Amino acid sequence: MIASNRTINYLRISVTDRCNFRCLYCVPSSPFSVIEHKKIARYEEILRITKLACELGITKVRITGGEPFVRKDIFSFLNRLCAIENLKDISITTNGALLTRKKIEQLTSFGIKRLNFSLDTLDPVKFSQITGRDRFKQVWESIFASHELGISPVKINAVILRGINDDEIENLTALTLKYPFHIRFIEYMPMGNSAVEKQQQILTQEIREKIESRFGKLVPVERTFNDGPAKKFQISGARGIVGFITPISSHFCSECNRLRLTSRGTLRPCLLNNYEKNILNPLRNGASDDELKKIILSALTKKPAFHGLTDQSSENIPISHMTSIGG
Ligand code: SAM
Ligand code: SF4
Repeated sequence: MIASNRTINYLRISVTDRCNFRCLYCVPSSPFSVIEHKKIARYEEILRITKLACELGITKVRITGGEPFVRKDIFSFLNRLCAIENLKDISITTNGALLTRKKIEQLTSFGIKRLNFSLDTLDPVKFSQITGRDRFKQVWESIFASHELGISPVKINAVILRGINDDEIENLTALTLKYPFHIRFIEYMPMGNSAVEKQQQILTQEIREKIESRFGKLVPVERTFNDGPAKKFQISGARGIVGFITPISSHFCSECNRLRLTSRGTLRPCLLNNYEKNILNPLRNGASDDELKKIILSALTKKPAFHGLTDQSSENIPISHMTSIGG
């Protein structure tokens, strides 16, 4: 599928807006409601939309949320997803707290080889402050179990905030000396109404300077076909990779090859643009496969050339928070 001169081959599917964590950069600071169960796309519905999207050229899928592993029967869904023809690459973004060695083994038996974990600190106390949950040990064990079971690469996403975990940049980076992990620093994106203040946002340049002053100059790493938006580097002699995801300081819109399917059954061509097209209602009202494919293609015509978040004016801030869109 082509949109804004780009080939779109990547579908990011949010299977739920619910989460067992309350990360301060992700969930709204004021009380919020979750989506009614009947309005959430059922697994059969997600599988049908995905199959049609694959017929139109999608080859990669990432499952996200909310927290994907809080949804009931997720493993049987993932097993069926892995059976879709033309789907070559399935990965999952998770906080890791509900995974166990046995469950990770199950994922690898389905053919899932890549997992992204979110981990913003190596300090259990700070972890509880950021996520609202005392689950550091479980997440840490899941990351290492994945590594031992051959998940590769194990990617770790960290959102760095001034005064919260900016003193963890070096500790997180040092993991790459010993393990072949990809540690990716994601710039905080203001979405919905999180508790994060503007002055807590730290951009990549500052993070990079901190890393280089401790570990020496970062060496750029060549991109591979499976790369996402992260700009990749290595500390000289390290086993792992340091990545920077820079939606604010240097947007990567011209390379963005993704479409999102939210748990509400809407197609969202851009994370940072509020436009969404509902595909679930037509599907529930009996639309044919051809009609649904037309809806997918028409959503893509709305893929913007670039997002408007860099100018920081409030009208450009997405009204939904990450858990409701799917990060
Ligand atoms: N619950 C899973 C997890 O935490 O990995 C999957 C969903 S979460 C929304 C996906 C990613 O979005 C996480 O890596 C998280 O760090 C990132 N994220 C959430 N809110 C963010 C924000 N406001 N700015 C930048 N990244 C954010
Ligand atoms: Fe949940 Fe992931 Fe958001 Fe944290 S970042 S609240 S784990 S969805």
